[in-house]
Amino acid sequence: MSHVFPRHSNKLPPVGKLGSGVHLFDSEGRAYFDGSGGAAVSCLGHGDQDIIGAITAQLESMAFAHTSFLTSTPAEELADLLVLHAPEGLQHVYFVSGGSEAVEAALKLARQYYVEIGQPERSKIIARRQSYHGNTLGALAVGGNAWRRAQFAPLLIDVSHIAPCYEYRDRLPGETEQDFGQRMAQELEDEILRLGPENVMAFVAEPVVGATMGAVPAAEGYFKRIREICDTYGVVLILDEVMCGMGRTGSLFAADQEGISPDICTIAKGLGAGYQPIGATLCSGKIFDAIKAGSGFFQHGHTYVGHPTACAAGLAVVQKLTSGIVGQVEGKGQDLMNMLNDAFGQAPLVGDIRGRGLFIGLEFVADRDSKAPLDPALKFNAKLKAAAFEAGLICYPMGGTIDGKRGDHVLLAPPFISQPHHFEELVGKLVTAVEQVSADLGL
Ligand code: PLP
Repeated sequence: MSHVFPRHSNKLPPVGKLGSGVHLFDSEGRAYFDGSGGAAVSCLGHGDQDIIGAITAQLESMAFAHTSFLTSTPAEELADLLVLHAPEGLQHVYFVSGGSEAVEAALKLARQYYVEIGQPERSKIIARRQSYHGNTLGALAVGGNAWRRAQFAPLLIDVSHIAPCYEYRDRLPGETEQDFGQRMAQELEDEILRLGPENVMAFVAEPVVGATMGAVPAAEGYFKRIREICDTYGVVLILDEVMCGMGRTGSLFAADQEGISPDICTIAKGLGAGYQPIGATLCSGKIFDAIKAGSGFFQHGHTYVGHPTACAAGLAVVQKLTSGIVGQVEGKGQDLMNMLNDAFGQAPLVGDIRGRGLFIGLEFVADRDSKAPLDPALKFNAKLKAAAFEAGLICYPMGGTIDGKRGDHVLLAPPFISQPHHFEELVGKLVTAVEQVSADLGL
């Protein structure tokens, strides 16, 4: 009997033994193509000797030092490198150990900013339905993932949720993409006015929605309008790039493709690429300076913030990403998208294939014309996950795509080092799994 508290108490996963390139191997020697990088983590694949070398070198010089006493060279260099490549205006980096922690830090930073500048009445947060921002209580409250929130609802702070920008289902017949984006962004202004602008602290959104909806980018112009609205009412714009950042969509920061800069940006996952747990909250000079000129102390902190070994891993990863690899993501993403369109473009069960770069989602439907979702009782997404795993493919299927209950999708986020034959393996295994589940369910 295992004493590990697993994700599912009645189902123990196999023991992972080896990671090599785009594959993971279990103790029985079975190989799995890592088609989702776990959960969009392993952007450089497994066993990268440059990253491993950077980590071991740091372990040998100084594994850890508490940041209330010492900073470290890798933390300083990683912050410099991130700021160099970050959207304009982001100037300071607060290092944490993962995505949820990055979001918690972002929320507290926005709040403290308003306290420091003498607007303590600003405490309301607006976010979007069908989003995921993490599993700690603050991040969970901000997230709009209905089933993840449900049983913890009594513990969650009050957050307003507006609609996501979900073109496949919500764009009206005859409406242009631009008009659709403006209509969706208008929900933010309406909600700010309803709450009273003087009470609103922050708006939080994923530039490309990941886990909850399956790689849904916003319509053209949506985020530009969001930026304008936040500027008009002095609301802090927090972009959560924990999943879609660090090159996943084809640029180091996903916000770059929207042509805007957030006031605060959260990153994690691809930052450590799975070699170390690390996340970060980047903020504008304006926010940092307000705290510096005020209390001089961001009232936050965990023991492992700025962990030198995690920062050494992050530094080696970002150096690698920015010296050519991110530039390949768009082209590779297009190759994978073409293969998926060939394999599933006419499949009766696949309603939409979407995404950006190597961040791609397939949405499954019962009927392509009406876009009617599959009956949630079929548990299509759970069965797909099991069938794909059986076929040797790790991917990220999820249910509740539309409203937390209805809808099924699979998220793909393969390593950036993938080659065309790897994509053939991925798509082939996904086809096998979808056919298997369709046959089992009589679809
Ligand atoms: N934010 C987004 C957009 C995410 O996708 C996730 C995780 O999937 C998180 C935050 C939470 O990150 P973590 O699981 O590292 O705490």
